[in-house]
Amino acid sequence: MIDAEKRLEGYQRLIDITRDLASTLDPDILFDHIIHAAADITDAEAASVLLYDAAIRQLYFQVATNLDMQAMRGLAVPLEGSIAGWVVSNREPVRITHAYQDTRFHPKIEQVTRSTTESILGVPLINNEIVVGVLEVFNKHNTDFTEADEELLQVLGAQAAVVVEKKRLFQQSDLIAAFVHELRNPLAYISNATYLLSRPEISPEQSEQVIHNIHFETQQLSTLASSFLDLTRLESGRVQFQLTEFKLQPLLEQCRQAMQNKAEENQVNISLEFPEDFPVVEADRDKIKQLALNLISNAIKYNVPGGSVRIIASFDQNEWMLTVSDTGVGIPEKAISHIFEKFYRVKASEGKVPGTRLSLSICKQIVSGHGGNITVRSKSGEGTEFTINLPRRNK
Ligand code: ADP
Repeated sequence: MIDAEKRLEGYQRLIDITRDLASTLDPDILFDHIIHAAADITDAEAASVLLYDAAIRQLYFQVATNLDMQAMRGLAVPLEGSIAGWVVSNREPVRITHAYQDTRFHPKIEQVTRSTTESILGVPLINNEIVVGVLEVFNKHNTDFTEADEELLQVLGAQAAVVVEKKRLFQQSDLIAAFVHELRNPLAYISNATYLLSRPEISPEQSEQVIHNIHFETQQLSTLASSFLDLTRLESGRVQFQLTEFKLQPLLEQCRQAMQNKAEENQVNISLEFPEDFPVVEADRDKIKQLALNLISNAIKYNVPGGSVRIIASFDQNEWMLTVSDTGVGIPEKAISHIFEKFYRVKASEGKVPGTRLSLSICKQIVSGHGGNITVRSKSGEGTEFTINLPRRNK
């Protein structure tokens, strides 16, 4: 096809995308249209959109023509030492003919896509002056990416930036709707309870019980509100992590002590295993404390009388690890992939154990904010084990 014809076809695709943008609500469908149009218009082998997470200075894959969801999950691209990171830092497009000769190239992705990257064209996605991600195309067929390709990709990049904003607003309104939903039950209870209290026929014992319950429900509401704020702050990247060097053992001892009463109430034994030569860690101490408390609290809550909780610290050359395992009710296999979602609760524990349903989402944010990861292994009826791996920054 001659150049002029190809360009015309490209413009037609751009017009189609603009129309899509106005009529399609689902951001994921729009992202998909954009990357396929990007690859077609520039005659490239593959295309992807990476979003930038300022809190952890990393990019992650939103969508790619040559990666499925499974492969993209957890695939992080660092700000430093990657071409996408360079585009974010410099707020400029990049055009590269031989990627593997470029010092900015991050070869890890190739292992996942199982293809070799030759040429790359990338443009920044900018919303209100803030770079939110990068649109990239790879390996132009037969030749190098041209200036005309760059111009077309920039137009698509502007569209993609709008979709990023759309997705953020979607997520925000979903979250607020879920939060309001969570408020409904305790508020309805408090409203009914105050009505009961005003009835002349209620006995002093009943009234004492109702007052106790109102107190409990209001405390739950207050915890829910602060957890919700914590989580939205963490997710927005507005929280600055205060990294300091500290000893982990006294911190874990404190957490164990703080949880001791609760453990005794539930007849659960807590033990702490700590290697003698454990190094000083560098992390945000308060956040690590919150993380440990959340995991220990869950290990007690979802345990059985006579059960136990083990807190185990370990380390290797590059990482330090914290494992919290319990001999509790466990998590059904099909629920495991959901437990880090906001407001998710395993059906069997519904209504039985009080909680905000946000603490594991908060844990996940704290861990990824430190550049680490959290994993879970569990068996229904046998117990659960959460492990966090965090990088050793100060080795
Ligand atoms: P919650 O406030 O309800 O405890 P979380 O976010 O802490 O919420 O956890 C989400 C869900 O994961 C819980 O409702 C529970 O069903 C499950 N869960 C978390 N930790 C454990 C555990 N140690 N053992 C069994 N189930 C757990």
